[in-house]
Amino acid sequence: MTALVIGGGPAGLMAAERLRKGGAAVTIIESRRSVGRTLLLAGRSGLNLTHSEPLDDFLDRYGPARPHLEPMIRAFGPDSLRGWADELGAETYVGSSGRVFPAVHKATPLLRAWLDRLVDAGVAFRRGLRWTGFVAGGVTVIGDDGESETLHADRIVLALGGGSWPRVGGDGSWVEIMRDAGVACTDLAAANAGVLVDWTPTFLENFEGEPLKNAAVSVAGESIRGEPVVTRTGLEGGPIYGLGPQIRAQLKEAGRATLHIDLHPDISHNGLGIRLETRRPKDSASTWLRRAGIKPVGVSLMREATGNQLPSDPAVTAALVKAVPVAVVAMAPIERAISTAGGVAWSAVDASLQLRDRPGVHIVGEMLDWEAPTGGYLLQACFSTGAWAGK
Ligand SMILES: Cc1cc2nc3c(=O)[nH]c(=O)nc-3n(C[C@H](O)[C@H](O)[C@H](O)COP(=O)(O)OP(=O)(O)OC[C@H]3O[C@@H](n4cnc5c(N)ncnc54)[C@H](O)[C@@H]3O)c2cc1C
Repeated sequence: MTALVIGGGPAGLMAAERLRKGGAAVTIIESRRSVGRTLLLAGRSGLNLTHSEPLDDFLDRYGPARPHLEPMIRAFGPDSLRGWADELGAETYVGSSGRVFPAVHKATPLLRAWLDRLVDAGVAFRRGLRWTGFVAGGVTVIGDDGESETLHADRIVLALGGGSWPRVGGDGSWVEIMRDAGVACTDLAAANAGVLVDWTPTFLENFEGEPLKNAAVSVAGESIRGEPVVTRTGLEGGPIYGLGPQIRAQLKEAGRATLHIDLHPDISHNGLGIRLETRRPKDSASTWLRRAGIKPVGVSLMREATGNQLPSDPAVTAALVKAVPVAVVAMAPIERAISTAGGVAWSAVDASLQLRDRPGVHIVGEMLDWEAPTGGYLLQACFSTGAWAGK
């Protein structure tokens, strides 16, 4: 059997490995001069491969895509992934948050060992070739030199990635090609992305890059604790990424979204109100709030929210501290997002991730319509779908 795997990211490389193990003659087609660039980028922040939480909780992180991904993650889950990385000499450990990393906190040694193993197993690589569409029983590609080619194989795996970070991975241009070929795709959207906020110049001057430590961010009834960080264009960080689906939904419905940031989640509204009742006559609003445990960045955020008209009544002020409204103008552009929501619709593929209308063509990785928070869930689903389709 011959197989073409198009896209040399984690999903494609894993599919290639499984196909080769099953005896197929495998060629990996990659548009760039090198493979695994997104993986290397992920390695810059330590390469969070997967997560160690109980599998049932783990699977819940995929929200509505859970039923589709569950058999694949059960077949090649966090333990299998750790075993696989260990085999490649990238011994892993569980960090304090339950996230799993290679001990060396980099992707380079793992990727190098993996590519050596693939080459030794006889997997062929053709770099600098870009997939441009389908023909009966094959695909069309175009080389860096502008030459087009038609390639045929018994099995084709498309692993072109999402639309985020186009400098290193996919650019999402496949959506149009797939739709033209009659494959249902939901629109790509930024996931695990920051949000855009119109900060005043004064706020930015003083607080760009500053984290809002120990805060809780809420939107549409969902709340996540963590450390949102003020950026030049808005807010980034775990709670913002985690609330992405809710923020996107509000933006879609109303054209804008409002986050409510609790600057003091460990104290109740009443408790804070009582604390704020003591105000020395000479205390400025900032000093008064700081004495109640609100950091300067928090006080300034409250000024941003009120047009610099901080309330003086303790109960009203406590209510503001517990829910500072922040108006979100838009999601940060997809190019800067860590991952992509949307993609090839689940209705377009069968249980083996094969396109229903194009037998022999399988879709893996971020091209599929799922999203998950950061924490190792993204790479895990890419490896699991690659292994599943490859098998
Ligand atoms: C900054 C950053 C940090 C991240 N950190 C983590 C992390 O710590 N943990 C985690 O779980 N996830 C992380 N992710 C997400 C994770 O890296 C991705 O989910 C994963 O790489 C997607 O894998 P993939 O194989 O589907 O696509 P990709 O890795 O994007 O690979 C797709 C490949 O296809 C190639 N390609 C695209 N179009 C074509 C074409 N037309 N023809 C031929 N080849 C093509 C691309 O060049 C690329 O090599 C991070 C992402 C970013 C951007």
